[in-house]
Amino acid sequence: MSNCFILLAAGKGKRFKSNKPKQFINYVNKPLFMHSVDKALESRLFKSIIIVSNVPLKNIRNKSIKVIKGGKERYQSSQNAINFLKNKKIKNVFVHDAARPNFSIKLLKRLYSNLKNNKAVVPFLKTEDSSKYKVRNKFQNLARDNLLFTQTPQCFDFKTLHKLYISNKEKVTDEASIFLNNNYKVKFIKGEKNNFKITTNSDLKKIQLKNFYGIGFDIHRLIKNKKLYLGGIKIPFHSGLQGHSDGDVILHAIIDGLLGAMRKKDIGSLYPSHKDKFKNIRSPNMLLPILKILDKNGYFINNIDINLICERPKVSRYRGKIISSLSNLLSINKDQINLKGKTVEKLGLIGKEKAIACETIVSLNYYA
Ligand code: ZN
Repeated sequence: MSNCFILLAAGKGKRFKSNKPKQFINYVNKPLFMHSVDKALESRLFKSIIIVSNVPLKNIRNKSIKVIKGGKERYQSSQNAINFLKNKKIKNVFVHDAARPNFSIKLLKRLYSNLKNNKAVVPFLKTEDSSKYKVRNKFQNLARDNLLFTQTPQCFDFKTLHKLYISNKEKVTDEASIFLNNNYKVKFIKGEKNNFKITTNSDLKKIQLKNFYGIGFDIHRLIKNKKLYLGGIKIPFHSGLQGHSDGDVILHAIIDGLLGAMRKKDIGSLYPSHKDKFKNIRSPNMLLPILKILDKNGYFINNIDINLICERPKVSRYRGKIISSLSNLLSINKDQINLKGKTVEKLGLIGKEKAIACETIVSLNYYA
């Protein structure tokens, strides 16, 4: 089935105070428009995705995504996309405003199933407020039960929408208007409250994020003739950390903190030490699958606090390098990471430089 998802991201967002158009600002850990792209991809409903944007978009490497230029007004951007799709054997088309990042994949599926018996399906909400309508200088009461507030995504039979758009001269604010203007039937289905449009800066705070915390601890013995790895980088030292892997206590404690916050057991259950395939594994490679679980389940890192417990090496000497490395490995900013060094007054194994330990606290945000 050749369904196409058109994402309109060419707007200027005049009511939004930022030096970037709102659709490109960072919203819940990624550019705002990417929330819609990711959901369209995840739904597996679409053969292609067209992003209409007036700025070049970097880092879009998915072959099913195409970026085209938009017009001055929303309807012109939409027209550009519809024209672009002409002769591309598209059966159905979904049109969506990038300023609505919070719709659900369930909504996409409900829209699609209603499209089987309709040429236009549009989500809407009702209002709880009493409504008035101004005609010239007179206000009239409106029956609120008869009022529909339409949202996007809206979906259509491509041929019909294309035909109507060719002859359209009006400055419509959504595609449903073109159907109604031409007396074509539109099937209205229930929309979603969370699918609000982000228009002003305060709309960015409407979604409440849940927080989760995880604690991590690790200790490895120091042995001669092994390289020392901490936070993913090699540190010059007289010994290295013994272990099934490279013994990187910082990364292991971070992994356990992350798993703890996601309530997904511990590092040992993912990487059992009796399994030969994990022998000598580098710790950054142990981190990758955890970051995938994080992303897939809608979590992202808020901050990480680390205590590295050792007599030597001196943490202050390597702090910058370790934080840079962690920021790279975890794809977070440096200011989300704090690294503290703790000595133990030369006490015990750690004090005698026979072991290094690490503890972490990880804070995750959850958005789904
Ligand atoms: Zn370990």
